[in-house]
Amino acid sequence: MKQILVELRGDWAFAVQMEPIAREWASGAYRCLLIHVYSGLSGEENTSRVAQSLKGLFPEALVVGSMSAGEICNGKLMEPGVLIAAMLFQQTEVRVLRYDRVKGREEETGRRIRLDLEAIPGIRGAELLFPGTELNTQGFFRELSLCRRELPLWGGYSGGHRFYSPDHFIFDPSGVMYDSVLVTAFAGEALHIDIDKIIGWEPLGLPFHVTKAEGNRLIELDGRPASELYEKFLRIDRSRRDNAQEGYTFPFLAKHKGEEWLRSTIHIEEDGSLDLHGFVMEGMEIQLSYGNPATIIHKVNQRLEALRAFRPQAILLYSCVVRKAFWDTIVNLEMEPFAALCSAGGFHTWGEVCRSQETGEVLEHNVTLLTIALREGDAPREELPPVQVDETLLEGQGTMLRRLSSLIYTTMGELQKAHTRLQLLNEKLTIMAECDRLTGLNNRGKTEELIEEALKSCDEEHPTSLIMVDADHFKRVNDIFGHQTGDEVLQQIAELLQDAADERGGFAGRWGGEEFFLVLPGTPEQEAAAAAEALRRRVEDHVFPEVEHMTVSLGVICVQSRVDPKRVYTKVDNALYMAKTEGRNRCVLARL
Ligand code: GH3
Ligand code: MG
Ligand code: MG
Repeated sequence: MKQILVELRGDWAFAVQMEPIAREWASGAYRCLLIHVYSGLSGEENTSRVAQSLKGLFPEALVVGSMSAGEICNGKLMEPGVLIAAMLFQQTEVRVLRYDRVKGREEETGRRIRLDLEAIPGIRGAELLFPGTELNTQGFFRELSLCRRELPLWGGYSGGHRFYSPDHFIFDPSGVMYDSVLVTAFAGEALHIDIDKIIGWEPLGLPFHVTKAEGNRLIELDGRPASELYEKFLRIDRSRRDNAQEGYTFPFLAKHKGEEWLRSTIHIEEDGSLDLHGFVMEGMEIQLSYGNPATIIHKVNQRLEALRAFRPQAILLYSCVVRKAFWDTIVNLEMEPFAALCSAGGFHTWGEVCRSQETGEVLEHNVTLLTIALREGDAPREELPPVQVDETLLEGQGTMLRRLSSLIYTTMGELQKAHTRLQLLNEKLTIMAECDRLTGLNNRGKTEELIEEALKSCDEEHPTSLIMVDADHFKRVNDIFGHQTGDEVLQQIAELLQDAADERGGFAGRWGGEEFFLVLPGTPEQEAAAAAEALRRRVEDHVFPEVEHMTVSLGVICVQSRVDPKRVYTKVDNALYMAKTEGRNRCVLARL
């Protein structure tokens, strides 16, 4: 296969300019001719005329066109105009399918496309071109994601050179379309397609939760109108809808189904909501982001290496208009190296469509550079020359960008590290504030808190039982074996208590000295009495260091209504006292 790119010039005869394509097509070596037209002209008429002229010159050709926010010819951004990209296939069969009246029927259209594509024998991939219509694409892409897993799908949203407008159209020789989708399907064993998306935008500042969203509209972040984030961090107010364009190089970044996901804002509404290019979902955690030249260059270099191995015969570059705004005069930096591998052309889009190889998910993206590489037949043996991004382009105007982003991202990294350290310290502090140092059980304060919390929701159907435990003749342990051994005995009693708590879904705490509590929410009296008795026996049977045998006395109480915790403590303490006076090593049940 072969791709021929022609930058159309208004002052030259059309047929003359199409000569290179005509000559190649006339050679008879090709079976199929697909012509992409990317038009930076705004008028409907100009644009359709190009498509019609092409059809006149090449009646067998398939012509698909899109308005473009920048035409990319051999990896370079052209002066605004028209790019003709002819793909000549030797073995591949190409079909163009057109779906009209999509708005309001997105999901149904998605399903129809899926079924149509799956019915094409030997299908190897498909491209989708969308107009600027504000479609609700969630259902549409859900349907497409159901396509056979290995089927590559990609595409772009048309766009003008002016800031976002819903009047962007796609076209074919029959005319322009504002509410249709053009699908180009590629079929045949010989065709190999390799697609990847490059981003390189990195998070800035704090994360926010999407607490309210509808379709493409981001309404609230952390319960506040979404535009407040724009006002606070980017100093962009909501006095005009189009103010959004001041911030569109700072898209929202999130992780969605394991993939990086970006959204640019196209309008700020009066009510403080943001109109995004593509859907957004409640529950997502999002951050503002900005391009990091170092990361982008690294990713482009990786992709160049992968494509060098793939040996492409044609490359399509579908790059978000945000990237064009970000790089400004040096946008070719990330596109031009691809043209060193083979013919590489495409356009700046207002949204890119790409299917994840890992999950099979088809998603609408913003801010990506899609590289779609095609080849017919096996990869030839001859190596392609190694290509890398020309970083010298960053000198001059790019130096500032590189230094500023390095400053920002290094600072962000340091802040992130400090934040993580503080979080760990905080967790430690919480543990220290709630934990008993010697035994690791809940300390007195935490135990009281947990008991009071459990007692709050008590009724006949939800009883809570408390078991108070006191070591018998513990003073003697200290006197005979020393304080150190005493400590070890307390630790082991605590372990037995914790086991009992874990088995019954309760918790254990140290009340002070050699006194403990076992709290069993949802446990009725009889079960609690049995649990106390089991614990008593476990301590009795346990072999402690040096001391060997120890016993405990226990007071048990079951609470089935809302009562003052103080009363409960007194009652259970009395029961424990009874157990002591009656001879120790026993359980006594208290009643309220
Ligand atoms: P009774 O059977 O009546 O409960 O007798 P007892 O000796 O266990 O009770 P008493 O309250 O007279 O003594 C408790 C002892 O527990 C006194 C104190 O020195 C000891 N003790 C309290 N906390 C600790 C501790 O953290 N480590 C050690 N080793 N001993 C402790
Ligand atoms: Mg005691
Ligand atoms: Mg004691």
